[in-house]
Amino acid sequence: MSDSCSHDCGSCSQECSSRTSPESFRVPLKEGSSVKRVIGVISGKGGVGKSLVTALTAAAMHKRGYRSAVLDADITGPSMPKLFGLRSKATGDDSGVYPVKSAGGIPIMSINLLLEDERAPVVWRGPLITGTVRQFWSEVHWGEIDYMFVDMPPGTGDVPLTVFQSLPLDGVIIVTTPQELVNLIVDKAAHMTTMMNIPVIGLVENMSYTRCPHCGERFRPFGKSHCAAVALEHGYKLLAELPIDPSLAELCDSGNIEQADLSLVAAVADAIEAL
Ligand code: ADP
Repeated sequence: MSDSCSHDCGSCSQECSSRTSPESFRVPLKEGSSVKRVIGVISGKGGVGKSLVTALTAAAMHKRGYRSAVLDADITGPSMPKLFGLRSKATGDDSGVYPVKSAGGIPIMSINLLLEDERAPVVWRGPLITGTVRQFWSEVHWGEIDYMFVDMPPGTGDVPLTVFQSLPLDGVIIVTTPQELVNLIVDKAAHMTTMMNIPVIGLVENMSYTRCPHCGERFRPFGKSHCAAVALEHGYKLLAELPIDPSLAELCDSGNIEQADLSLVAAVADAIEAL
């Protein structure tokens, strides 16, 4: 144990002898709700399209007839209400909080659905963030869900680690971009998932390529991708390469992500179905 130990293993990633087991951070799911599979979406840093992939995959599974839900665990950078165009706030009563449903019927919980002013920055320390995520699991009336998608906090530091330990994840999807240091990111994510004994469902490379608006030719603005090689090295599948597409950005901005071409993440949905 270090001299500066706060005795809160939930906010610390040190592997010391006094560490309590991961399960001890877990809280039970809200009574009356059931979730068959919990899928985390992770990335090495913010802004690489993790939330986009979470939203597209949840929408794709919903379209396949499964009951999808989205838990926005990216407390300091919540984007699910915007992507799904949610306009109303979450409501609650003595028994708990009710998620807000998207236009297509996907229940979603995010800190922005609870804050009075969603533009106010959330400047919270780790324990408060992870406490909130745990409450999203234990205090929200989710109902019966087949696949819960968790938009994880970016990175591989203390906060994402504790969120990992707080939720019963069945698998994770790693989102990366060609210009990221893919090898390093995947190494770190692999280390974290191995530590937590959580399978990696596969990798998604976002912003892989784009198309010339005149001739439609496909080209890679960031040069040759190393993602496939890195995936192979780790024994992971590269499930999808998503284009840089202004119409996708437009759908994100207008809150209409459910109307996107969901075949982009068909292989991700297949891999989740096969879990
Ligand atoms: P993260 O969750 O990793 O921080 P987001 O998924 O919120 O990143 O992406 C940030 C924004 O970048 C999105 O709202 C969208 O406008 C834009 N974006 C991400 N990926 C793409 C893409 N493939 N094509 C066009 N715009 C994209």
